[in-house]
Amino acid sequence: MKVRVAINGFGTIGKRVADAVAKQPDMELVGVAKTRPSYEARRAAEKGYRLFVTGEGKSADFDAAGLKTAGTVHDLLAASDVVIDAAPDKVGKENRKLYEKAGIRAVFQGGEKSDVAEASFNALGNYAACRGKRTVRVVSCNTTGIARAAAVFLANWGVDHWEVTLVRRAADPAESKKGPLNGIVPTFQLPSHHGPDVKTIFPDLVIATTAVVVPTTLMHVHVNHVRLHTPPKDAAEVLDVFRKTPRFHLFAPWERVDGTPQVMEYARDRGIGFNDMMENVIWQEGFRLDGRDAYFFQAIHQESIVVPENIDAVRAMLDLAPDGRASIAITDRALGLSKP
Ligand code: NAD
Repeated sequence: MKVRVAINGFGTIGKRVADAVAKQPDMELVGVAKTRPSYEARRAAEKGYRLFVTGEGKSADFDAAGLKTAGTVHDLLAASDVVIDAAPDKVGKENRKLYEKAGIRAVFQGGEKSDVAEASFNALGNYAACRGKRTVRVVSCNTTGIARAAAVFLANWGVDHWEVTLVRRAADPAESKKGPLNGIVPTFQLPSHHGPDVKTIFPDLVIATTAVVVPTTLMHVHVNHVRLHTPPKDAAEVLDVFRKTPRFHLFAPWERVDGTPQVMEYARDRGIGFNDMMENVIWQEGFRLDGRDAYFFQAIHQESIVVPENIDAVRAMLDLAPDGRASIAITDRALGLSKP
């Protein structure tokens, strides 16, 4: 029996997660809920996904656009075991009432506060703690990137202290109304919210984050200084662990990947998902170890990094896999992310 999954909110995250659900051997995509007709609704219909009307949407608008709908979000929830909410920031909290009424399990996204769900989730970080939960929140793109790296450091050497400067993309590529178009905008909340958010997964981690927003749409880049508890033998030891861990992609110097433009060109070459880079990207050349101090950069593709985590969150809640690594293996095989 496959687990029946609904997607409520079909934008940047929702459309990617819908495709990922449809590829899983143990899940069935019941349908996707959309507020209004758009090119994305049209693509959903072309892919054969059943469309349901959600939010303030009207089925007459879909009819006028020639897009067939199968009912409202209530019908979708009634036919599903779990819903993945991918509505805009803070709308998930409102939608939670719908899910409670329908008596359905729910996965929320990082645009919601952590109290929207029983637990925050990261597959490498705390899969076991989320098993059997009725509600979980997949943390944001930046927090997911830090949490994955934290899981690696904590399991292998321990972390005494970690400072991250986040260089954040201003908007997603399709967002034509956001900025800055020119300029660097510091986040005056110090530390930025990312550090406390990582602590919803690793409560004892000593981490401080600061952030600036820059005019790019491709990816975020994190500039990291981690003081490890136990010194690794050398940088190669640390890089080797990252290389062998799922959801990390390392670039060697000879690959001539100078920055995020080539990373995303590689993603277009590779053609996974929407030409996505769902792994944390680490440049070997940009990794330095000085005793217990590790310095490194990682790039985070904000539009897709949380996609596999949403799948694993469903598996944890429904107890479909014995542990996080087993779930990650199933997800990554289905998505084409498996390491050789
Ligand atoms: P988006 O604006 O691209 O998509 C949201 C979709 O939800 C839109 O299609 C919108 O029409 C629809 N919607 C509006 N009201 C709704 C309602 N009441 N019920 C259901 N759907 C409704 O947003 P997104 O970028 O996909 O973000 C979704 C969530 O994922 C947010 O919590 C966000 O913080 C989080 N997230 C976004 C990114 C990113 O970089 N885009 C990365 C990680 C996490």
